[in-house]
Amino acid sequence: MASCEKCWADARRMGVSYSDLIRDRETARIICTPEQQAGEEAKTCAMCGRKTMHQYCGVCMACGWKSEIGGHAALSELEGE
Ligand SMILES: [Zn+2]
Ligand SMILES: [Zn+2]
Repeated sequence: MASCEKCWADARRMGVSYSDLIRDRETARIICTPEQQAGEEAKTCAMCGRKTMHQYCGVCMACGWKSEIGGHAALSELEGE
């Protein structure tokens, strides 16, 4: 499952760990929209037409469709390390 970009950003801003923040939000039943989860740089999904293709994982957070092209962003980042 791709991580939520909005929660990552919120965790960084609040100075808490991502896993703590997610647990708190699950308890409070706060659920981010697919657009928020996919991030600011999200691409438009070819299947459902929403801007919900996760910016790193290349997975649509709305319908679950996975783009082969979108996944390359994450791969090239790993290779750069
Ligand atoms: Zn979130
Ligand atoms: Zn989709």
